[in-house]
Amino acid sequence: MSELWYTEKQTDSFGITMKIKRTLHTEQTEFQHLEMVETEEFGNMLYLDGMVMTSQKDEFVYHEMVAHVPLFTHPNPENVLVVGGGDGGVIREILKHPSVKKATLVDIDGKVIEYSKKYLPEIAGKLDDPRVDVKVGDGFLHIAESENEYDVIMVDSTEPVGPAVNLFTKGFYAGISRALKEDGIFVAQSDNPWFTPDLIRNVQRDVREIFPITNLYIANIPTYPSGMWTFTIGSKKYNPLEVPEDRFHEIDTKYYTKELHKAAFVLPKFVQDLTK
Ligand code: SAM
Repeated sequence: MSELWYTEKQTDSFGITMKIKRTLHTEQTEFQHLEMVETEEFGNMLYLDGMVMTSQKDEFVYHEMVAHVPLFTHPNPENVLVVGGGDGGVIREILKHPSVKKATLVDIDGKVIEYSKKYLPEIAGKLDDPRVDVKVGDGFLHIAESENEYDVIMVDSTEPVGPAVNLFTKGFYAGISRALKEDGIFVAQSDNPWFTPDLIRNVQRDVREIFPITNLYIANIPTYPSGMWTFTIGSKKYNPLEVPEDRFHEIDTKYYTKELHKAAFVLPKFVQDLTK
C-alpha cells in the first residue's frame, strides 16, 4: 500500500510534511478548506486552507500559552472573549481559572466547531460548559459592537488570509481596546519569526500605538512552521512581566508554569529586534 504524506507549504521552497494514516473529513466550508486527518506522529490534526491549526499531541502548548499568560497577569479576570478558537482549546484552558464567570467564543466558521467536537473531543470538550457562550460570527464585527465589556480578549485566529485578514489590522486592535474594560488585556497569536518577521513587526508596531504595555512572548510548537511561535500581548494597566508571586495559583498544565511565564518573554536577539 502506498504511503500518504501531507505537506504544509510555508514558502515556495519549504514545508512541513506529516505521514497521514487516513483522512477523517474534508470539506470546503463557506469560509475555508477544512481537513481533519489522522497522523502517525501527532494524532488527529485540523488543517484550514492547507495550514496546520492544531494537533492532539502538541495542542497543549499553544492553548496554555494563549490563555494563562494574560489570565495570570490580570488580578481578577471574570469576563473573557476568544475570537476564533473554534477548536475549543483556549476555552478549555480559560475555564481552569476559578475567577472566570463567563467565556464567550466567536468563530466565523461553525464547521470548525462541529468537526472539532467530533474528532478532537479532548480539545473541544469544554465548549458545552455552562460558563461558555459559543457564537458563530465574524469576530471583527463582534468587537466593533462591544464596549467596555471584557477583562481579557484572546485572538486565536488563522493566519492573515481569507476571513482573518481584518483581524490583523490597527482598526481591529483599536476596537479591542474599546471592547476591553479600563484595565483589560489582549493577546493574539502573531505567527513565527523565521518566515513572517514582517507580520510580527507590523503587529507589534500597531499594538504598541494602542496599548501602553506591549510585549512579545514565544513558545515551542513542533507542528507550526519553524517550531517557534510568537504571541503579542497588549495591556492597559497590568504588566505581564511584573505579576506578583501570590497571583499564581495551582493549575493543571503540561507546558505553562509560573517560571515559564517569565521565561517566555526572554527573546533571542533576532526576535527581540522585531519588537523595536
Ligand atoms: N491555533 C491556530 C493557529 O495559530 O494556526 C488557529 C486555530 S483555528 C481554531 C482559528 C480559527 O479562527 C478558525 O476556526 C477560523 O474559522 C477562525 N477565524 C478566522 N477568521 C475569523 C474571523 N474573522 N472571526 C472569527 N473567527 C475567525
